[in-house]
Amino acid sequence: MPPPRSLIPTGVFGRPVRISVWALATGVRLLLRHQKRLAVTAYLLLGLMGAVTFTQFILEEALQQIGFTCYHYKNSYRDHPSRETLVRMEAALTKFEAMQDTADQVNTWIGWINPLSRPAFAQYNVASRLQLEAYRGWLADRVSEHRGDDTPIEVVDRPCTKCNGTGQYKSYGSCYTCGGTGRIVHDTSY
Ligand SMILES: [Zn+2]
Repeated sequence: MPPPRSLIPTGVFGRPVRISVWALATGVRLLLRHQKRLAVTAYLLLGLMGAVTFTQFILEEALQQIGFTCYHYKNSYRDHPSRETLVRMEAALTKFEAMQDTADQVNTWIGWINPLSRPAFAQYNVASRLQLEAYRGWLADRVSEHRGDDTPIEVVDRPCTKCNGTGQYKSYGSCYTCGGTGRIVHDTSY
């Protein structure tokens, strides 16, 4: 027996409610029929989002660590103003910048996979680059104070302890500590 006419609403987009109910029921039926596939898809998507965010998080940790490293060099220089500290800090800042570029590229190219975390890492990267520039400025001032100072800097040149001077580390191939050179050398360009 059909329901009384007055109780039948117009339905979605003016279609009879019977069609809307049919569409809804079909949707639910499809969801139920493919729930395994949907669950697997959701699982894979969430896993991928998590992997991207974790990658960005570790890059953020690396940036934070190298920021601390520069802070320690700054303190070290205050206690003992040697040019060698400045040379080491300059090497650290070069690595800092490479790391910063990597973090920016990762956020640009794969950060959109997790739209929730992307803006947060973008803000962190902005702040981190500002810190890098601040350290650059501080270093430039200190370096200028040493102009004309020809006191020799003790050049560090020793076999790499990671690969025992072979330049090869286990199955990784080229040693990542010495860059495959087998030696640890600090640049003493000023
Ligand atoms: Zn090595």
